[in-house]
Amino acid sequence: MRWRDRRQSDNIEDRRGMSIPRSAKIGGLSGLGLVAVVLIGMFLGIDPTVLLEGVPEMQTPSVSVQRSGRPGANDELRDFVAVVLAETEDVWHEAFRKMGRTYQAPTLVLYSGAVESACGMAGSAVGPFYCPYDHKVYLDLSFFEDLQTRFGASGDFAQAYVIAHEVGHHVQTLLGISKKVNELQSRVSPSDRNKLSVMMELQADCFSGVWAHQADKSRQILEAGDIEEGLNAASAIGDDRIQRKTQGYVVPDAFTHGSSAQRVRWFKVGLEDGNPQICDTFNAARL
Ligand SMILES: [Zn+2]
Repeated sequence: MRWRDRRQSDNIEDRRGMSIPRSAKIGGLSGLGLVAVVLIGMFLGIDPTVLLEGVPEMQTPSVSVQRSGRPGANDELRDFVAVVLAETEDVWHEAFRKMGRTYQAPTLVLYSGAVESACGMAGSAVGPFYCPYDHKVYLDLSFFEDLQTRFGASGDFAQAYVIAHEVGHHVQTLLGISKKVNELQSRVSPSDRNKLSVMMELQADCFSGVWAHQADKSRQILEAGDIEEGLNAASAIGDDRIQRKTQGYVVPDAFTHGSSAQRVRWFKVGLEDGNPQICDTFNAARL
């Protein structure tokens, strides 16, 4: 991706290396308490995009606050994240303007190990997530290492896709989609709840594709191989792929993010079209 010497977003809150106040420390909660916080969060529409090991990982959360190092570490990665965030701001400001709305940019919080959000405490094991209550995306940069080593999704554009997906959840929140879906989810069966969750996630993937389309059209961000990196990442974090890896079999009813094929498909739909209206996963003939 062409990202060097481009505008960096100011909406970055760097909490790396910061320790969490003792009163709020995860250690004060039992392991189960933390799981409950995380699960409640998930119902409320927080997005642990990529639960690295599904639920088992959350039962043994990493509470080390030191995981990805000192402030100042990973600064190239920080700059990269700030550029990608700036690119999402430019694209969504314009897209909202076309819809006759105003885009309020989210803040991206960098943290290491564990973080406190308006949606509760989270350890980096939950992966990047978006909290609709404070309009913030939370990211531990060590996730990108996991993305590469554990999921085989390498390349800067794989990382950009993940950030743009989280920003996609912010867009859903601003457009009122998340609220509607959460209300609906509280009234339906668990398997239907999961289906709605999949529609939300696939829409965020599609928005990520829309972002790449528009950013490339305006500012030529894409280099050879980038699209493949994005598609590979979308495929690597499909529910079926993760379930097969972590539990050895696939349970489609338990999907919350969509299969690899679905995630690739919707990322592509957004990427090829470039119009957010195309991302109506809720009324699509097929997911
Ligand atoms: Zn998501």
